[in-house]
Amino acid sequence: MKFNTKTIHGGQEYDKAYGAVMPPIYQTSTYAQSTPGGHKGYEYSRTHNPTRHALENAFASIENGEYGLAFSSGLAAIDGVIKLLQPGDEVISTNDLYGGTYRLFTKIFERFGIKFQFIGMENASDIEAYITDKTKLIWVETPTNPMMNIIDIKSIASVTKKYNILLAVDNTFATPYLQRPLDLGADIVMHSATKYIGGHSDLVMGALIVKDEELSKKLYFIQNASGAICGPQDSFLALRGIKTLHVRMQRHCENGKAIAHFLKTHDKVDQVYWPGFEDHPNHTIAKDQMDDFGGMISFTTKDDSYQGAVHVVEKLRLFTLAESLGGVESLAGHPASMTHASIPIEERQKIGVKDSLIRLSVGIEDIEDLIADLKQALD
Ligand SMILES: *Cc1c(COP(=O)(O)O)cnc(C)c1O
Repeated sequence: MKFNTKTIHGGQEYDKAYGAVMPPIYQTSTYAQSTPGGHKGYEYSRTHNPTRHALENAFASIENGEYGLAFSSGLAAIDGVIKLLQPGDEVISTNDLYGGTYRLFTKIFERFGIKFQFIGMENASDIEAYITDKTKLIWVETPTNPMMNIIDIKSIASVTKKYNILLAVDNTFATPYLQRPLDLGADIVMHSATKYIGGHSDLVMGALIVKDEELSKKLYFIQNASGAICGPQDSFLALRGIKTLHVRMQRHCENGKAIAHFLKTHDKVDQVYWPGFEDHPNHTIAKDQMDDFGGMISFTTKDDSYQGAVHVVEKLRLFTLAESLGGVESLAGHPASMTHASIPIEERQKIGVKDSLIRLSVGIEDIEDLIADLKQALD
């Protein structure tokens, strides 16, 4: 089955009770048993729920994995991965990371004796210098947020295979429409399904997808034991979102490309960060591992001031000033004061998140309207 077909049919079967084409929302915590242990595969909804199960199968299918797990948020999914580790274990992570992931690693898990190192991974061979016999996991985000750096998943996977280390990739920005990390050698794919997967800014959810059965068992154990599962209603919404993922992504990419080029020639704009530009430092890798370049763009303004950037985002009318990304509607954000406010200013500036940086999540509206909005705000 090819990707577009998978988004609609992957892992799905018609409802066994009445043949409903969409999986019913099984809004139930528990299931009747005929005799102790005599059930139809479902006992308690933290452990299993038919609607969530249908979604988890869809996750596995679109990422070319074998096992999918749905969580109550992207961070809950990441939390589940880190719980595979023991005190004393070490994790190497990209330095240009979603702020909430950085906060979870440094403010929660460091307290439990897990050590995190945040490094630039544009050069896969650089990682080896940081690997010790305690290194158990490499955490990669690509494209990175908000600087749109591209990390070569295949090269990193060759390093993790050599040292027998797990490789997890946060695929939230790219989605499986653009990039399938398991095919490139990753062990775990993670999503904030809140973003493109759900696609309509109406739910908060996380996902993990793996190929390996042993690893899936450990993660299912953690999912059930820690309990950060998502509910049946949200599972239904995410399933519905997945069915249009490919058509939405196609438009996000088209609009993203047009806006990146518009910004590049605007005289108030300084740098534009978008992996589709030939002069993007990792353009070749992006072209190689992604099928297109997505709808996420960051840029800085020429006046290079905090206030100037705030002024632009306040002036936007169609682009809503909001956290989050990946919905059908266009959003704008100011990382220094919003998504990345939890990262210390020195760390932030080291990775290039300037005070004047603006991040756009380009939606699927008519491109003429989006460009007109950016133009009036910048002018
Ligand atoms: C939003 C986001 C997360 C966190 O997901 P939540 O669903 O908000 O918990 C993690 N990684 C990336 C890249 C994100 O954009």
